[in-house]
Amino acid sequence: MKLEVVTIGTELLLGQILDTNAAELGRGLAAAGVEVVRHSSVADRPDAIRAAVAEALERTGFVITTGGLGPTRDDITKREVAALFGKALELDAAVLQSLEERFRRLGRPMPAVNRTQAEVPAGATVLPNPRGTAPGLWVEDRGRVVVMLPGVPSEMRGLLAEEVLPRLAARTAGVVVRSRSVRTTGIAESALAERVGAIEEEIAPLTLAYLPSTDGVELRVTAWSLREDDAERRLAAAVAQLRERAGEHCYGEDRTDLAAVVLDQLRARGSRLVVAESCTGGVLSARITAIPGASNVFIGGVVAYDNMVKSGTLDVRPELLDQYGAVSEQVVSAMAEGVQRQFAVDAALAITGIAGPSGGTAEKPVGTVWLAARHGAERRALKRVFPGDRNEIRARSAQAALDLLRRLLADKP
Ligand code: ATP
Ligand code: MG
Repeated sequence: MKLEVVTIGTELLLGQILDTNAAELGRGLAAAGVEVVRHSSVADRPDAIRAAVAEALERTGFVITTGGLGPTRDDITKREVAALFGKALELDAAVLQSLEERFRRLGRPMPAVNRTQAEVPAGATVLPNPRGTAPGLWVEDRGRVVVMLPGVPSEMRGLLAEEVLPRLAARTAGVVVRSRSVRTTGIAESALAERVGAIEEEIAPLTLAYLPSTDGVELRVTAWSLREDDAERRLAAAVAQLRERAGEHCYGEDRTDLAAVVLDQLRARGSRLVVAESCTGGVLSARITAIPGASNVFIGGVVAYDNMVKSGTLDVRPELLDQYGAVSEQVVSAMAEGVQRQFAVDAALAITGIAGPSGGTAEKPVGTVWLAARHGAERRALKRVFPGDRNEIRARSAQAALDLLRRLLADKP
């Protein structure tokens, strides 16, 4: 089943608030097997609301709106939808009574404007909203449906779960929209696409999306409107195929964090980890310590930002710094070796690079980062040149350092 979402509120268009309702509706409906094919946002203006709902109805025949249901002057969704269906607004005695009770409980007289909240389009189903004053409304006429939900996110969420999804479930008859993903890192999107090849036809009717971020490229497969067991079976097969094609670049599925993967690898070997960070200044340590249970593997590290700390605390020889510069294979290797020796643990990671925006040269442009990993006497060093701003470069550096150790421990290229 397909529908459209229209979120209403001038503040959404002005960027004063984020449209979390659209995101939550997308997630909640997808999980229930309903496909949101489009969402749009409009201002609190009668003509804009009416046009948006009318167009959406024209296309899909089923629309969910949020916002503009309250008693204030800008809350006009109900009036416009009623007009669109050619229905009058009628006072609903039950809604009026529950409104009056609500105000009585709060010990306040009910303002006259709140009476309008008890008006509903003729024939509409009232969706009770115990968290607020404006109920949701379900208007259905000749196969066309408009469901109006309040704008307040907690009220919208409650009505979605308690009133809307159960009614939709009855219509979708057991189909779901479900996604799974394969997480990769250390390979560019285009190179990954080449490795994965023309898999789309093989996995159809599932669809595949490439989602790049500073963590790497996520391959997300989605099953649209399939029966749950069929969706699960096809998704599992597609994930297995994608994992195989992604090979050593794949580090996990779904929400797996690379830091957790590396901690597990180390834990399985009874190894402990220490880090030496220059340009990341603690970003790597923060990634690692965000994982519950990190403390039995991760002992800590040194932020060796200035060369004084690199040589003073990590024993990087000043000649190396002079001769090769702080961002070099020689220095990153010496940092990893120095911190490993200093704290006498099995595993060590080191990062040194140029996060920008200044400090780049023709030879070492902004984004140049050297990474080193050690486990016992095994060691690897890697140079990467990352795109992005200062924060992105730092985030990519931390992820790449973790990946270097993952590959070293797994004996993969
Ligand atoms: P009320 O009965 O409280 O007036 P309403 O249905 O009239 O509810 P709005 O007045 O449009 O809803 O919005 C109420 C609150 O919810 C506002 O604080 C608004 O910023 C927030 N809100 C509205 N729409 C969204 C949205 N799409 N995403 C997140 N927050 C929203
Ligand atoms: Mg309002």
